[in-house]
Amino acid sequence: MSVEHKARKRFGQNFLVDQQIIGRIVAAVGASPEDNLIEIGPGTAAITEHLVRQCPAMTVIELDRDLIKFLTAKFSQYPEMKIVNGDALTTDFSQFYGGRELRLVGNLPYNISTPLLFHLLGSGHLIKDMHFMLQREVVDRLGASPGTKSYGRLSVMIQYHCRVMPLIPVPPESFRPAPKVQSAVVRLKPHKIKPFVATNELLLGKIVNLCFQQRRKTLRNCLKLYSDYLVDIESLIDLAMRPERLTVSDFVAITNAIDQFVENS
Ligand code: SAM
Repeated sequence: MSVEHKARKRFGQNFLVDQQIIGRIVAAVGASPEDNLIEIGPGTAAITEHLVRQCPAMTVIELDRDLIKFLTAKFSQYPEMKIVNGDALTTDFSQFYGGRELRLVGNLPYNISTPLLFHLLGSGHLIKDMHFMLQREVVDRLGASPGTKSYGRLSVMIQYHCRVMPLIPVPPESFRPAPKVQSAVVRLKPHKIKPFVATNELLLGKIVNLCFQQRRKTLRNCLKLYSDYLVDIESLIDLAMRPERLTVSDFVAITNAIDQFVENS
């Protein structure tokens, strides 16, 4: 079955047409029938039609109602497949868990990719892995090391929760319509045991936020809000440093120290 669908900009629709790239994504996922596989934004089914052969009971979540009609007709011979008309940004992913870790896949709409990643981290403990197509620049930020241009809030928060593996660079010509930017596929694997554990993850988010809002300032300046506790933190970390030099483990150490002082004060 073919689809006559005009790509909608507001839904971030850039459909994959490059069969070689599609094949590489499907191989990287390596789905099997027993997987709890969920594709976000199946669109016109470029990846879905391969995945469903490997995992007939997969779930797809698509926002565009017109595409739901198309998908329902196209996959009528897959009675176990679940086709959900919904917004991945507000979907409670724990509803799909049922004791089986989730495997998420998606050529994500670029306009929602960062909030969606943060939303998914909330269910990170239920997720086995995620394979996502994102803007190349976002993939660079996810995997960036301290001291590099791409290193920032996204790098710290994602690396706190996940192992980041950039997999496949994808040029604009692989899509219709072609986006203006380069893309890349990344694998994210939530840590089963986190290498560094923040005693208060909300506080970690807040501290990382504060630090990268003013990345050229010193830590002492960025953390003015916590100036009462900075004397105690000074033994842990040089407050004259810029936040962009701090590792995930440094941010966790600062968070845990402040959390402890706040609790005891
Ligand atoms: N997977 C298809 C492909 O690779 O050709 C389509 C990818 S296209 C970049 C993104 C898809 O996500 C579109 O089908 C779009 O309608 C859908 N979408 C956009 N926002 C969404 C949301 N909030 N929740 C679920 N799907 C969404």
